[in-house]
Amino acid sequence: MLHLGELGDGTDRLLEYLDTHDGRPPRQIRFETVERLPMADFPVPAYSLIWLRQYFIASIQFSSGCPYACEFCDIPGLYGRNPRLKTPEQVLRELDEIVAAGAVSVYFVDDNFIANQRAAQELLPHLIEWQVRNRYPLRFACERPSTSPRTSGCSPSCALRASIPCSAGSRRPSPMPCEPSPRTRISACRC
Ligand code: SF4
Repeated sequence: MLHLGELGDGTDRLLEYLDTHDGRPPRQIRFETVERLPMADFPVPAYSLIWLRQYFIASIQFSSGCPYACEFCDIPGLYGRNPRLKTPEQVLRELDEIVAAGAVSVYFVDDNFIANQRAAQELLPHLIEWQVRNRYPLRFACERPSTSPRTSGCSPSCALRASIPCSAGSRRPSPMPCEPSPRTRISACRC
């Protein structure tokens, strides 16, 4: 059986098939998602089923898709150019679960954390307040372009690095005016 695409109607059909059939199917069956589930409707992953302290870093997703069109990148083609988003409350609920499961570091797996810059900026105060309220239990990392085609000045990820802190890597030196905090660690970045 093949599941193609993201969580959505194809996933529902796959689960329905598994609930109603036993054994190996006579031939390969494809379940392809046409209607993606809105990210605001994603359930909280079952972090409680694993002991995250045994892992180098936990992962969380805030957005999917990217409006840019870097010629080597398949992300806009796969996930669309209009980023879909989780709500800040959703992200915080997941962080609560991640901490309860024992993690000390979290990686935002978004291919471009600032794909929707306004949404990223709106999320940051929630992340900062959550860190303060919980006495800084997590270190964050994310990916973002080394330069922002749409803005000048300090980018949201730059603010995130300075405040949380978040690490961000790049293939070339970033010309942004805000330097990473001393605690910033460099992670691999495809942007
Ligand atoms: S490389 Fe990064 S910024 Fe460029 S299209 Fe891909 S995800 Fe977007």
